[in-house]
Parts: sequence; structure tokens; C-alpha cells
Amino acid sequence: MTPTASAGPLYLDANATEPLRPAARAAALAALEAGGNPSSVHAAGRAARRILEAAREVLAARFGARPQDVVLTAGGTEANAIAIRALAAGRRVLVGETEHPAVLAAAGPEAVRIPVHDDGTVNLRVLEGLMAERPALVCLMAANNETGVLHPWAEVADLCRKHGGYWHMDAVQAAGRVPLDLRASGADSLAISGHKLGGPMGAGALLLRPGLEVAPLIAGGGQERGRRGGTEPLPAIAGMAAAAEVAHAATLATLRDAIEAGVRALAPEAVIAGAAAPRLPNTSLVILPGVAAETQVIALDLAGVQVSAGAACSSGKVGRSHVLAAMGLEAGIRVSLPWDAGPDAPARFLAAWGAMRERLARRAA
Ligand code: PLP
Repeated sequence: MTPTASAGPLYLDANATEPLRPAARAAALAALEAGGNPSSVHAAGRAARRILEAAREVLAARFGARPQDVVLTAGGTEANAIAIRALAAGRRVLVGETEHPAVLAAAGPEAVRIPVHDDGTVNLRVLEGLMAERPALVCLMAANNETGVLHPWAEVADLCRKHGGYWHMDAVQAAGRVPLDLRASGADSLAISGHKLGGPMGAGALLLRPGLEVAPLIAGGGQERGRRGGTEPLPAIAGMAAAAEVAHAATLATLRDAIEAGVRALAPEAVIAGAAAPRLPNTSLVILPGVAAETQVIALDLAGVQVSAGAACSSGKVGRSHVLAAMGLEAGIRVSLPWDAGPDAPARFLAAWGAMRERLARRAA
């Protein structure tokens, strides 16, 4: 498990991947030990099928879909790609400027970028103008992976209703951290990822509004009602469902707020990206003007504090991300509290960050 105990390193990179939840581990191990392919007709296959369908039902109930409208995949990237490819047919694709690379890539180079305001929320006026021109597929995430900023879901849904547009919502970071329900959101489809919920890596799901159909990216044995080819990664799916049942991050807001208050007290010049917008409870993007994010990440790592410079999905990438560029901000460090963060996390982070800042200031003097 990712170390978070006081004695070990302090893991604050949950948006890259959440520590494995005990319930998810137990469910994944049980599925591994059960064996069997859910497509086999014999007893072992039927047992595997029961595990698969139980996981589907849990996800459907938790995120507001019918079980038959849940397509199980090998991750969030795949769920996003299946939805976008299918729903884009005959429509102009509009994609948020701050979307995850998985969505930007699936939307393709022809897609029109929807700008965001300085606080990271979507510019609804521009979106409406674009939607009024032609039937559109709108790709807008529920919450941003770098800043935690939440788009105004209700307003986006209203625009889609008014102009007859489809809305695909990448909910990979929002799932399990804020209330999320496909029906209530007004989105047409929604992608989630197992390892961001505290499940194992290698599972995801696409949830569809009733009546929407999608085609497989890779044709195979007709699994998932012909919507996703390939044997389902059953242990990871079972773990994802078990994680989804217990995932709930609201209490992390107190720790996040303590970190931000401490940062402001230590460094009045620091900027918190999207601070004025509604955000995920666990995420804070801290900018220290004039100090490279990677310098901070390395210094903090040496002090036993694990954060990332913007998104960690494309690990190794440094410099200002497209998300912060769209918000007109410098590069910063992303502090994302995991579900098992302890009450000492703010104090430990602030001690390391404050010491780092002082060292850098002395060096610069
Ligand atoms: N969408 C968002 C917003 C993400 O943060 C990520 C991963 O970081 C993904 C999609 C991709 O999910 P996965 O790692 O399951 O492919």
C-alpha cells in the first residue's frame, strides 16, 4: 500500500492514484482466487459472471445508471475513448481546454476547444455560441485532475438540453469525491476509473444514458453486449466496485483548507489555482511565483513528501501544463490528499514546504 503513516513518506498524490482500499483489495483477491472467465458457460464461468454482474450493479446504483448501460473497461482512458468516438458521429466535437490528455486525444485535432475562465470553470457564453451553430458533442470533465475545479454541471446540462447537444463527462476525478449521479447530472455518458477510487489499476467503466449505444474500439468476442471487446479484467473490476461502494472524500476538505491556510500564512505571494471556484475536497494546486514546480517536487520528495507538478499521468513531463496555461497561471505543485490521509498531513506538509521555501529564499538572497 502507498505509505501514508507518520513514520514513512507522506503521500499527497491521490489524483495520480489513490492508495488501494482494503475492501477493494479483498474483492480483487477473491475474484483472482475464484478464477474462471465470465464468458464461459460452465460453473467456474458462471461464478465469474456473477462477480462481474454484481460489480456492474454496484457501479450502476452508485453512479445513477441502469446495469445494462454500464460498459466495463480496462480504465478511464478507454471509457472516455469509447464514448467520444461513438457520440461524435455526425456532430461537431467541442472539448474543454483543460481536459485530460485522454479526452483531448480522443476528441482529435479537429475538435474545437472551449475556453475556461481564469478560475478554471468553463466559459458558458462561448460554449453556448458554439452549440448554437451545429449539433455538438460536448466533452467537459466533472472535475479537473490538476486543480480540482468543478465545472458548473447544471448549466452545462441546461445548454445541452436547449441545443440538443450530447455531453460526455469525464468523471474520473470526481467519482467517489463528490456526489455523482449520471441521471441527475444531465450528462449523456460518464467515465470513471478504478484506481482513482481506491481500486486496483486496470479497470474503468463507461456509464450511458438509456438508449445510447456505443461500438467497441477493438472488436473481440462480443463482451459487454458487443460494446467492448476482450475478456473483462475481473479482479480489477471487482476491486473497483468494492472501492466505489465505500469511496467518500468530503472530510478531506478540512485538511485541504488547513494546508491552504498554512501556505498563505507562510508565503503571502503563493497562489492557489481556482481557489474561488467550487473544487474537489482533496485537491490544491499551489503556485510559488518564480519557483519551478519540479524544483519543489524534488525538494519535497527528498523531505519525504510526495506531490506532483501538475498532472502525473504523463509522468516525466515537466513545465507548465495546458491546464494552468489556460488559466493564465504559472506552473505549480498539485497536492492531492488520499482517502486515508491522517490528521497530521497538513502539519507535515507545511513543515516540509515551509522549510523548502525558506531554503530557496536564502539561496536567492
Ligand atoms: N481522466 C482524468 C481526469 C484523469 O485524471 C485520468 C488519469 O489521471 C484519466 C482520465 C485516465 O484514467 P486511467 O488512468 O484510468 O486511464
